Amino acid sequence: MNNKQSLRQHLLQLDNRNYKAYKDIQGCYDFDEFTLIIDYVQGDPFASPSKFRVIVPPDIARIPRELFKSRSRKIALRDYLTRQFDKAAYSNSSKRGTGKSGLIAVTRLGQEVLERTAAFIIFSTASDIADLGGVELRFVVGLPAGGRSILGREAAEMLCEDIPRIVSQSLKYSSLNTAECRRHVETVEDADWLRQQLAEKQLVAFVAEGSILPRRSGVDNRPLLNDAVAFVSPPSLKVEFNCPNRGAISGMGIPAGITLIVGGGYHGKSTLLRAIELGVYNRIPGDGREFVVANPAAVKIRAEDGRSVAGVDVSPFITGLPQGRDTTQFYTENASGSTSQAANIIEALEVGRRKKEEGSSATDSVTDVTDVTDVTDFIPMEEGRRKKEEGRGNKEEGSSATDSVTDVTDVTDVTDFSPMEVGRRKKEEGRGNKEEGRGKKEEGRGNKEEAKFFVLETQLVAISEGDLVPVLLVDEDTAATNFMIRDRRMQALIAKDKEPITPFIDKVKQLYTDCGVSTILVMGGSGDYFDVADTVISMDNFLAYNVTEKAKEIANKYSINRAAEGGESFGEITQRVPIPASLDPSRGRRDVRVKVRDVDELAFGTQDVDLGAVEQIVDSGQLRAIAAAMVYAKQQYMDGKRTLSEIIDLVMADIDLQGMDILSSFPQGDFAMFRRFELAAAINRLRSLSVVAK
Ligand code: ADP
Ligand code: MG
Repeated sequence: MNNKQSLRQHLLQLDNRNYKAYKDIQGCYDFDEFTLIIDYVQGDPFASPSKFRVIVPPDIARIPRELFKSRSRKIALRDYLTRQFDKAAYSNSSKRGTGKSGLIAVTRLGQEVLERTAAFIIFSTASDIADLGGVELRFVVGLPAGGRSILGREAAEMLCEDIPRIVSQSLKYSSLNTAECRRHVETVEDADWLRQQLAEKQLVAFVAEGSILPRRSGVDNRPLLNDAVAFVSPPSLKVEFNCPNRGAISGMGIPAGITLIVGGGYHGKSTLLRAIELGVYNRIPGDGREFVVANPAAVKIRAEDGRSVAGVDVSPFITGLPQGRDTTQFYTENASGSTSQAANIIEALEVGRRKKEEGSSATDSVTDVTDVTDVTDFIPMEEGRRKKEEGRGNKEEGSSATDSVTDVTDVTDVTDFSPMEVGRRKKEEGRGNKEEGRGKKEEGRGNKEEAKFFVLETQLVAISEGDLVPVLLVDEDTAATNFMIRDRRMQALIAKDKEPITPFIDKVKQLYTDCGVSTILVMGGSGDYFDVADTVISMDNFLAYNVTEKAKEIANKYSINRAAEGGESFGEITQRVPIPASLDPSRGRRDVRVKVRDVDELAFGTQDVDLGAVEQIVDSGQLRAIAAAMVYAKQQYMDGKRTLSEIIDLVMADIDLQGMDILSSFPQGDFAMFRRFELAAAINRLRSLSVVAK
């Protein structure tokens, strides 16, 4: 393998040459303490930056196993190391020429701790270092240029001095703030643990005492600094837990059923709901909301007029539209506020809920997952491949890394390379990975201790039916009024048969009793919901009170005598089968072209998909992974027979077992984990989508 000295020489020789000559440095380099892998070299200084990786072996990184012994811990540790690398890269890099020259950066990081493909823990089964972890870290580099010619000396400094310094400051345990690292890992583990406890206590969300919910500004998600009122639980809703690391914690438990959040304008209602919405994810210590957790299937529902809807059975909410339009297979290019909100609910139920008798194929895949976990150390796959390399020792790690470099070269040969070019070799890839997985299993059988905790890890994420039942979160600020309420006077003026909409107020109870779907609803403007609410929380000067009894008294005293319009039962949730041809990621000569902009826009082939209203996509890495997963879903599982929900089950199970790397044909450092609901949301917003009812 080439080494640092030869890379330096090479870069100095390239000085002043045309920028394209940088392509020659693609490859693998032995840097004494780590391996530097240059997977892809940018074509010019203004193009997307070059893709690099470093592999720091366990005996150099020396991260104690304690810090990655559970799945939660491992994800948190990976997040922590990415953040440390980010910090060190920021302080050790500067602009060194035109375009992106001088850039050294990881994927953009927000307040959430998500599973990402930026960092992986590698470990060895060699007994002397079995208790230590190493790191693979993926980042991008803007190779320096003056105009369009290579600045060789600068490049040599960046690659041969800055990168080793960054690695040494951020990826070696001895240089880390170990207390902070431990806190990061333990906080995330506690939050995951709390989230798991909810169901058992019949809760859908938990907000810890002392949480800081408000954010610094509408565009800054860090906690509000001054004047933030810390959260205080109403005594009657207080619950206590004993977390594995932090110990006792108390806070407000929001029970299953129908919960209303009321209160005057500007008193903190939406802020509370937003914290709960994002409680499906973990947050970094110091965020203020690290112990606000929600049922993992909590889905924000809002009105989204203008969206397209493809064949959704919205008949539980909407029937008898003008011009006799079918609402059991409702298609529109331009939904109204109310119809979009109805579609958003039904789509969440469609991928979230499973009828018991149905299960066959979907349940099979779930069972599969469990079967596999019984096998010794079949890991949450990210590490599958790496671990194998590791087992063989450091030198071979290098050579197998070279394989993947070759891989990349194939891709970069294609003109106008895009980092999202995932489709083409997807099939071979998938197959390759599976084989690797298999190899892995055999290899791992020796180590009993490991086997134990890997089994544990995967059981943590095993999909149970309960996990899939959504909890709906609705805020009056973003809901359609005519979808939410229809009061007595309006019932008197507009007869039921002239109103296509059955308002949410008449369905919310059935959703809970028929489907087990709880709702948390912010509603400061109408007391009609007092009749159907199980719990009423008021926000008053940013403090929460339990006003359930008072609300019930008022409901009795001022009876509204509304006629219930919801009918006998909620109605059927129809499963849809997507037609494969209606998802087309190709554009021009390219089979796959998908691109994302921030968290709210996705270009899929020739279409732009607007995800601005899908509020639980919080990280551009999630959207990037969702885009790749859409391509993967289409190529692997859409066959014109499987339902959308079955397809998503299969995709999520693959990712669960093999990691997000299966979504791309070469190591991608900027994917972040997403939920099934957001993947479905993106597919559902494709304007070309067409379906048949199952
Ligand atoms: P509502 O939905 O009740 O109208 P919001 O939740 O939108 O109110 O909050 C109004 C304002 O108060 C926002 O600027 C928000 O950041 C701020 N805020 C919310 N909760 C708190 C709190 N606990 N302490 C200080 N400010 C808060
Ligand atoms: Mg509000």
